[in-house]
Amino acid sequence: KLHNTILELKGNIRVFCRVRPLLPDDSADTVVSFPTSTEALGRGIELVQSGQKYNFTFDKVFNHEASQQDVFVEISQLVQSALDGYKVCIFAYGQTGSGKTYTMMGRPDEPDLKGLIPRSLEQIFQTSQSLKDQGWKYTMQASILEIYNDTIRDLLLTNRSSDHARTENNASSKQYTIKHDANGNTHVSDLTIKDVCSADEISSLLRQAAQSRSVGRTQMNEQSSRSHFVFTLRISGKNENTEQQVHGVLNLIDLAGSERLSKSGATGDRLKETQAINRSLSCLSDVIFALGGKKEDHVPFRNSKLTYLLQPCLGGDSKTLMFVNISPDQSSTGESLCSLRFAARVN
Ligand code: ADP
Ligand code: MG
Repeated sequence: KLHNTILELKGNIRVFCRVRPLLPDDSADTVVSFPTSTEALGRGIELVQSGQKYNFTFDKVFNHEASQQDVFVEISQLVQSALDGYKVCIFAYGQTGSGKTYTMMGRPDEPDLKGLIPRSLEQIFQTSQSLKDQGWKYTMQASILEIYNDTIRDLLLTNRSSDHARTENNASSKQYTIKHDANGNTHVSDLTIKDVCSADEISSLLRQAAQSRSVGRTQMNEQSSRSHFVFTLRISGKNENTEQQVHGVLNLIDLAGSERLSKSGATGDRLKETQAINRSLSCLSDVIFALGGKKEDHVPFRNSKLTYLLQPCLGGDSKTLMFVNISPDQSSTGESLCSLRFAARVN
């Protein structure tokens, strides 16, 4: 397309693995290592469970020493392509505590530690400014939502008189119906859409969303790790010299924790919650797997809110990147193996 974005894509789906460092609360042993053979260097990961070795290869593997900038360098072209009119999705998948939020958001106020979302937005605005010289004018719109129990909640809803009212609003009276039009644009009824002109404006929206989310959390039992967080930036560009137009979308998604809660003990709301997460994550895997096989007419987009919402950004010539986040400690071995297998399936 435009601006000569060069991407070496194997299909349009890539998988990156990131292993976080051991933390003080972890069991002291790491069960993860990184093969150094020529073919696996920077791409391989080995996990040991009960003396058995499991090897996986991805498009890229980041070890515990990779900085936020090291990771961003590898996705910056993909982010850039949203300005060229591509639809882009970047997901973080993994069990709770594996580093999804650190990877996506990081610590936004600390320059070295801010994650992919703030870095991507800064780059998008910088680049769009520099393209002005060539006649490009961009307009951008942001929305931020979460999907909890297969129900959309608007994280930018402002006129809430109380937290209770917010929950009521989100849970029942507003329907947030998803519609896709013939041009591949997605409309979610009642969802707050903000025009944005700078990375700073988006930062304050992200703060607002984080606040909305944590309000929900105290009421709803650690809800943030039990819901999918979806940040969407719609980008429209028009070239005043050539009349060319582009419409790109950048979706940055912090998925719900992938851990399987023990079936015993999980009853009522907790059971429903777990089933909703498992269903939507396996649906996401089915969709990406089917897209990798290029059988687009059989892709089960409609089986979950998440995949249906993102449908226009997952098929066609859109670009998808999945981070699989891994905790390296012994007690996470089972979940880590599940995550690596999930990622190996979609890769
Ligand atoms: P998740 O969102 O998957 O539940 P978090 O992103 O909250 O996990 O990470 C869990 C903890 O690990 C946090 O304290 C976070 O600061 C820390 N952490 C995660 N990844 C890294 C990393 N690459 N480097 C340093 N600390 C990390
Ligand atoms: Mg998190």
